[in-house]
Order: sequence, then structure tokens, then C-alpha cells
Amino acid sequence: MPGRLEHRVALITGAGSGIGLESALLFASEGASVVLVDVNIDTAEKARKLLVEKHPNAKAVTVKADVSKEEEVKLAVETAVKEFGRLDVMFNNAGIMHPADDNALNTEERIWDLTMNINLKGVWWGCKHAILAMRNNPIDESKGLHKGGSIINTASFVAIMGAATPQLAYTASKGAVLAMTRELAMVHAREGIRINSICPGPLKTPLLMDFLNTDEKKNRRLVHLPMGRFGEAIEVARGALFLASDDSSYVTGTDFKVDGGLSSCYVTPE
Ligand code: NAD
Repeated sequence: MPGRLEHRVALITGAGSGIGLESALLFASEGASVVLVDVNIDTAEKARKLLVEKHPNAKAVTVKADVSKEEEVKLAVETAVKEFGRLDVMFNNAGIMHPADDNALNTEERIWDLTMNINLKGVWWGCKHAILAMRNNPIDESKGLHKGGSIINTASFVAIMGAATPQLAYTASKGAVLAMTRELAMVHAREGIRINSICPGPLKTPLLMDFLNTDEKKNRRLVHLPMGRFGEAIEVARGALFLASDDSSYVTGTDFKVDGGLSSCYVTPE
């Protein structure tokens, strides 16, 4: 059985940890050549080693890049094209949740700017350079390679629901990712470039668990989760695989929720 990403090239930002790492492994298992991008090159390199250990036939390279810097994102995309000849999937996944991000009164401007630069501007740069590369993708119908590609932008459940445990900059950045993604999806729909957001619920990854470092903090959230548990990074990676592959060929501009029902919930089960 050919994989769902056979002959495809996928670039994943924040590939050294959490959702990005699981997506790199999953996409490779479905036949993709993977470019693992992270500001932390050591974790990206560890992820690449794990990937080739698990999938010895897979092709994978790492690139150190800070997604908030346009030149670095451009170079990462150029590496994908140079190494593998094309770019089919761009997963703009890297993001931060700063411990000093708070409410409107306490959040410092530098925390706001840092968060926006990575979580929002970083997604913009990723979209911009992916679109430019995808326009030049060679078409080969015999390999199922048609024009365009798929861009996936990681937002969050907090983009669509409020929380009285505020992280104002983070929440605003993720709301903006949803709005930007919808508009880009419309602009590029006729070029065969599909652009979707993925909205993970709260997950057991370092990003959230480093922050929810007491049982009290965890329980404050758990009571609101319909399934009674945090999600796993692999569960979001599976959603990303759907958006990356032709399984979602008629899906663009959507806010794809992988949140265990959280955003549909009023009262949780007893
Ligand atoms: P994680 O912290 O486990 O991994 C994030 C990765 O991004 C790390 O490897 C980190 O080095 C990298 N990174 C950070 N800043 C970067 C930069 N400027 N340039 C390049 N790489 C950078 O996080 P995760 O939980 O896997 O989160 C991935 C995405 O999912 C983020 O955008 C996050 O906001 C979003 N998200 C996470 C949750 C959750 O509960 N974990 C929920 C909703 C949305």
C-alpha cells in the first residue's frame, strides 16, 4: 500500500518536540521526505535520528531556523526545494507560550511582541515562502503530484474560546492565525494551494505541561475536558496528516479542531 504522502515533501516547523516531532514521524511513515525545522537544532537532530531509526528508507534533513526571521524561513524552504525538488506540505507549527504572558494589565509589551513575532509573524513567513515554492512545484500525475500544495497553520482552542486563566498575547496570536489562514485560503484557492488551521485542545506536551506544573493547575483544566484527559501530540499529528494529504482535497480555509470536544462543551459528563 503506498503511503498517503508518497513522493511528497513536507516541511515542519517546531519539529524537535511535541506535535512537530510526532508529525515528522507520522508523515515519514506515510512516505514523505521531511524537512525538520527548529530553533533548537539539537532537538531537531534528535528527532531526525529517531525518524530514520524508525523509517530507514525515509529521507529527512534538519534546518536551524527561528520562524520569526523571514530570511531563516526562506532558507528553510529553499533547503526543501534544493534537497528534494519541491514542497508539497508546509506545517507552520512552531509556537511559544511564555510564562510571563498574562492579562491585559500585567503582560509586558516585550512578551506581547515576542509571542506575536513567533506565533503569528512566523506563520505569515511560512505561508509566504511556501506559496512561492508551491507555485513552482513540478506536476507529475503518474505520481499523484498535482499543482499547489497544502499549508497547515497551528492555532489553538483558545483562538475560539475564552479562559479565565489568561495568556493574552498567546490567545490573540492564535486568533489572528485563524483569521489570516481563512483569508490566505481564499486568495490562493484557485492555485491548488489549500490552507487550513488546526486547533489543538490542551495536550500533554512540554509547551503546556511545563506550565501546568502542579496538580491544582492541571485539575483546574481537567474538569472542563469532556473526555476527562489531556490530548496527545500524536492525536493532533493524525489531524495534520489528514490536512496534509489528498484525503482533504476539498478542505480549505477551515478551523480544524482536534480538541476532544472541548470547544463544543457546556457541561462535562460526571
Ligand atoms: P512544544 O513546546 O512541545 O514544541 C514546540 C517546538 O517549537 C519546540 O521544539 C521549539 O524549540 C520550537 N520553537 C519554539 N520557538 C521557535 C521559533 N521561534 N522558531 C522555530 N522553532 C521554534 O509545543 P507543542 O505543544 O508541540 O506545540 C506546537 C504548536 O501547537 C504550537 O504552535 C502551540 O502553540 C500549539 N498548541 C499547543 C497546545 C498544547 O496544549 N500543547 C494546544 C494548542 C495549540
